[in-house]
Amino acid sequence: MPGRKKVYVTRELPEKAMETLESRFEVEVWRDEMPPPKSILMEKVKQADGLICLLTEKIDREVIEAAGPQLLGISQVAVGFDNIDLEAATEKGIYVTNTPGVLTETTADYAFALLMAVARRIAEADRYVKAGRWRVPWGLMMLLGQDVWGKTIGIIGMGRIGSAVARRAKGMNMRILYYDLVRREKLEKELDAEYVDLETLLRESDFVTIHVPLSPSTRHLINEERLRLMKRTACLINTSRGPVVDEKALYKALKEGWIWAAGLDVWEEEPTSPDNPLLKLDNVTASPHIASGSIETRTKMALMAVENMTAILEGRVPPNLVNREVLKVRPPSS
Ligand code: NAD
Repeated sequence: MPGRKKVYVTRELPEKAMETLESRFEVEVWRDEMPPPKSILMEKVKQADGLICLLTEKIDREVIEAAGPQLLGISQVAVGFDNIDLEAATEKGIYVTNTPGVLTETTADYAFALLMAVARRIAEADRYVKAGRWRVPWGLMMLLGQDVWGKTIGIIGMGRIGSAVARRAKGMNMRILYYDLVRREKLEKELDAEYVDLETLLRESDFVTIHVPLSPSTRHLINEERLRLMKRTACLINTSRGPVVDEKALYKALKEGWIWAAGLDVWEEEPTSPDNPLLKLDNVTASPHIASGSIETRTKMALMAVENMTAILEGRVPPNLVNREVLKVRPPSS
């Protein structure tokens, strides 16, 4: 249909979201499972009015500078947006949006599931049984784990997901410590959570779970020095972004027993190489960045990204604008 705005989508979205998008715009989709190469992205943003993308696409300054003046917005299907150069987008008057909130409970479910799996060695037990290694009918000392009930959890980043994890921890009768840039006094009262500095959190927690965004201030926040502060019986759970943890230091910590185990949904490089030494350790439970991956939630995320894009292309302020300064560069037209 002539006159319709053009949207380039870097992966097939769930059906309901595709239908909504196609009923409103002229849509072109990159149909491969792998992300589109940078050269394709640079070519597509020359023509498109809007770009809907995933966190696997590196939307750096070069891609943004390749965009034609008609590109009004980038709608990311994720809450994290560390793959997008916000400064470059803002300078060019491009609106950038994300999908917060709809994935909070799903991601918190997963973080807690990973915590329990690590504590009770569930992935290891699965490998043990399937490999035919279960010979003793019932072993008093077989695959012993750590208790979760009543233990101390340390939450790094008490935002939407961190506080949803805290609510689950409360249900497990845990002592809740948290560290954040911002103090959450209301939550402290609601959950009996204690605000502590990072060092205290690491020293006192049995489970440390990370929920900060990736930024210059959180890159390698968990490094060798901080891992050395943790208890030898502690477990580290990361469902935030891989580079928040220094993987080389974590490998040493796990191999040399400074900490007990780790559950990792996110990696410094994704996909992580099959040669990553962390994958050779029995005390690592690994998953491929699936913490928000429930059928319902992925559909909600895609629909939210479509609504953000629709608002941008209709000249409105989108509900989930992340670079608010852009409103000064290009105010909404309606
Ligand atoms: P949020 O913005 O609600 O919470 C983040 C919290 O981290 C905030 O309270 C903020 O103050 C705090 N913070 C930021 N920088 C900090 C620092 N240097 N030190 C201490 N605290 C700091 O975000 P959210 O919705 O809870 O999501 C958190 C992150 O989880 C996202 O940015 C994303 O990277 C990640 N995530 C991963 C998955 C997955 O599939 N594995 C799914 C969803 C979200």
